Amino acid sequence: MRTVIFGIISYLLFAACSNAQTDFDKYFENQSMRVDLILGGNKHMQSVYLLEIKQEPFWGGSINNLVDELGYGEYHFTIRNKESDELIYSRGFCTLFEEWRTTEEAKSINKAFYQTVTFPYPKEEVIFTLNERRKDGSYNALLTMVINPDDTNIRKEKVPDYEVVKLVDNGEPANMVDLTFIAEGYQLDEMDKFKADVKRMADYILSMEPYKSQQHKINFWAVCSPSIDSEADNPRRDKWVNTAVNSSFNTFYIDRYLETGDVISIRDIAACAPYDHICVLVNSDKYGGGGIYNHFSIGTSDHPSAREVMLHEIGHGFGGLADEYYTSDVAYQNFFDLNVEPWQPNITTLVNFDSKWKHLVDPSTPIPTPVSKKYEDVSGVFEGGGYVEKGVYRPAVNCRMKTNEAEGFCPACQAALTKMIEFVTD
Ligand SMILES: [Zn+2]
Repeated sequence: MRTVIFGIISYLLFAACSNAQTDFDKYFENQSMRVDLILGGNKHMQSVYLLEIKQEPFWGGSINNLVDELGYGEYHFTIRNKESDELIYSRGFCTLFEEWRTTEEAKSINKAFYQTVTFPYPKEEVIFTLNERRKDGSYNALLTMVINPDDTNIRKEKVPDYEVVKLVDNGEPANMVDLTFIAEGYQLDEMDKFKADVKRMADYILSMEPYKSQQHKINFWAVCSPSIDSEADNPRRDKWVNTAVNSSFNTFYIDRYLETGDVISIRDIAACAPYDHICVLVNSDKYGGGGIYNHFSIGTSDHPSAREVMLHEIGHGFGGLADEYYTSDVAYQNFFDLNVEPWQPNITTLVNFDSKWKHLVDPSTPIPTPVSKKYEDVSGVFEGGGYVEKGVYRPAVNCRMKTNEAEGFCPACQAALTKMIEFVTD
């Protein structure tokens, strides 16, 4: 591991050394296009509106695996070349809005949330389509539009002039998992603490499987985005602070649920560095966090369980993993339909278990698997998971996606994370 200050010169070197496959070079520039959207609605309906389109300086994602093969996420977007209609990029993702739609509040009022998606900057006109996942797993188009990359109104503002540090450097962003941490609730004179906090997180994450075995494929970046005030909003204490991305505890009235709807500011800051996944580190000793697939992960710096929480949240945000717990207080109602196999790789309704971790379960292990001493340390199918006590099953008695006390990720979660690392880095 070595530390370097990232600058334009090193970026140009990356670009010059890049060994891109034909498709990427044919269709894309080595920069990002960002589409900012508003998702609005209630429990029963949703609509999508275009806010604006931006050009950003870095593309940190894969240049080989451009079309999604994993099928994760409640939403999905596709980019097609307009002239040939060829599918040239797609990804799945999740949103804070979709979680809100399962709360009690969504039965009685309409609300809107910011949402952003990024993809490599197209060279020619493309057709952008945003899909929602239907209950049966098929997709329904919510928005389709043509984007001309030469449109004069695509915003090309300079990114903020924040210090960017590559804390763990294993190679070019195109071939690595780039986990990019941005500072939240750190004042300008607290940036040495921020960098030390990110390093502590990185060292812990890289000590845990499957990241430990794959650490040569992972970069860690720190973007030193200053806040006017320290820490984060805490509504239950009537504490309100002015911070870089406006994070707050008590999301959906759950004290430990730390989130922000200000994904616009998050993306503006993260644009300072290449990234595959954005991690927001909040300068606080309070317990809390959140992680949403292909959106961002967020956690605090100084609670005694902060490292375990951040690892768990990145499991959601980067790995698309579900929560394996089912007894804690959450705001969600009927989060999973028991008649449908969920897309998350670490829970099952047994509707299509063959598509999940069946290969990890010994044929002598009963399905469902009783929670007993005999099966304590093996892969099985244990009832309870995904906030649901009955009808949703998890792969292990305990796992980092269930508790902070677990030793680490269960084998099914490790396998899913390894698959994601390979998809991003191949
Ligand atoms: Zn697990």
